[in-house]
Amino acid sequence: MKAYLGIDLGGTSIKMGLVDQQGNILHNMENPTPVKEGYHAVLKLIDQMAQSLLRQSGYAWRNISGAGIGVPAFIDFQKGILVEVVNLGWHNVSLQADLERLWHMPVMVENDANAAALGEMWTGAGKGVSQLLCLTLGTGIGGGVIINGEIYHGANGTAGEAGHITVKPQGGRVCNCGRTGCLETEASATAIVVDALERVREISAGPLQEEFQRTGTLTARTVIQLARQGEPVCREIIAKAGTILGNSLAVMCCLLNPEMIVIGGGVSQAGTILFDPLIKAFNSAVLPRAAENVSIVPAKLGNQAGMIGAAWLVHRQAQ
Ligand SMILES: [Zn+2]
Repeated sequence: MKAYLGIDLGGTSIKMGLVDQQGNILHNMENPTPVKEGYHAVLKLIDQMAQSLLRQSGYAWRNISGAGIGVPAFIDFQKGILVEVVNLGWHNVSLQADLERLWHMPVMVENDANAAALGEMWTGAGKGVSQLLCLTLGTGIGGGVIINGEIYHGANGTAGEAGHITVKPQGGRVCNCGRTGCLETEASATAIVVDALERVREISAGPLQEEFQRTGTLTARTVIQLARQGEPVCREIIAKAGTILGNSLAVMCCLLNPEMIVIGGGVSQAGTILFDPLIKAFNSAVLPRAAENVSIVPAKLGNQAGMIGAAWLVHRQAQ
């Protein structure tokens, strides 16, 4: 049986899976990304991971049809070059060519949010859907636009950068992209933490204040957990993020008229506390006909979406 390597290269960890032709992960592993050691150390670790993954699973290299890799990067798809990999501090690296030289098989690169969208389309929440919008709510906000079953890259590979849609033209927070008031400064996990740290100063008691006193900080995971337990300030913070997301999705929906919008990433774990205000804001802002057939659903594959979507890139070539 032929299989693929699906790799999700992030600023925190490298995830690698051996994926079969149906999109199932047969074996997988994860290692911290040696960011400080630079590009060649990361390349070496990816190679070592592939060697040991194959050894563990009993697969020979000849049974691997190719590898796909999702990277948090702006990519020049014509040249196969990672123009800018923000979290890793790389510029103009030829990851695709370097891995092909190492492994003597086809390697495909894709933006990580696009890879996650493809994973959800192949075996996740968007299975069988070919007009799909996927948002990943993590430290930042990534987006992937799928039109007719293919990622839409746009003129220079930047399509789907939903996290950088301006949602607060005045007085917004500073974004990693250098501008202010982007969707990801107002509705990502990072934004939820900033909101919570602002709000915790206004309250003198309760579980949010206790958590802050105990740990000296707050995390998005804590805020989501407390919101689920009914803590009113945390619920408000998550609902605010949901409303902002719903309004932005209405804009995207008018433009793209998708069949489905899949919402993944850690923040989506908030469940109905996020989704109810999101859908309410969405419905009141969207052009009704553009939203007639759309369903807004949570992602299904969790942090495996990137690996599966990366493998799909090779699977698609093999069809
Ligand atoms: Zn931005």
